[in-house]
Amino acid sequence: MSSLAVTGFAHVLAHALIFLIGAAVGSFLNVVIYRLPRRESLIAPRSRCLSCGEGLGVIDLIPVLSYVILGGRCRHCKRSYSARYMTVELFTGLTALGALYALGPTLHALLAFIAVACLIVIFFIDLDHFIIPDETVAIVATVGLILDIGALMSQGRSVAVVFHEMLTPELTYEVVLPMSLVGMAVGAGLFVVIAYVSERFFKRPGMGWGDVKLAAAMGAMLGPGYQFLSFFLIAVFVGAVIGIVCMAAGWCARGDYIPFGPMLALSGIAMIYFGDYITPVVMSRFMIG
Ligand SMILES: [Zn+2]
Repeated sequence: MSSLAVTGFAHVLAHALIFLIGAAVGSFLNVVIYRLPRRESLIAPRSRCLSCGEGLGVIDLIPVLSYVILGGRCRHCKRSYSARYMTVELFTGLTALGALYALGPTLHALLAFIAVACLIVIFFIDLDHFIIPDETVAIVATVGLILDIGALMSQGRSVAVVFHEMLTPELTYEVVLPMSLVGMAVGAGLFVVIAYVSERFFKRPGMGWGDVKLAAAMGAMLGPGYQFLSFFLIAVFVGAVIGIVCMAAGWCARGDYIPFGPMLALSGIAMIYFGDYITPVVMSRFMIG
């Protein structure tokens, strides 16, 4: 084999390995999605068939492949599993590759993937239970703060919010605020206003506290600027499209509650990886000149 072929093979192997690690994380996320809203332990007992209670063995725990090999059925009672388990594993595997593709083999990529994994959990739990667990939001916010601290240490005040506060004509202070903290405040503030307005004037709950907290966490990730605005606009756009498709297909009626968390989660995943590419495209659609 030529050295080029060897490098190519190693390249493919590394990517397959990253995908498999991601899919294995997805397998854990399935457990979190099921157990966290029920307040069950995430560690013990080990996963078992929800139908016959038989514990899952090594074969059952191979992500994606086990579903394909076993035809989506329990080895013992033959009851079929929801295809969602495999979908979560597949998608989480792809987002692990996405982290590598977008951010390279860096600590930044690993942290971003952790935040994305939380957003995948939020997507499904909010879809099922109309709640966004605080733990998941707290992890996203923490990742945002850590990444911001890293950016501040390497790039200094160019990544901070800086302004001059004049107390008296002679006394002017320079105020330096971390982007993540301002982002949190702006994100939460914007969503509180929307939640208040939609409840007060449109008499329908447009947003819950979970959405407000998630917006704060994404504000920590994206900062208070156009990245956050793009994140919000994409979520609204996706929500509107899904709402229209849902009503047109007769899956839901006008006035049915559609949780906003899943749209925020999808938009958040895209923005965390590809915000630098997406934001200019989105903003050029909305800004004139
Ligand atoms: Zn079974």
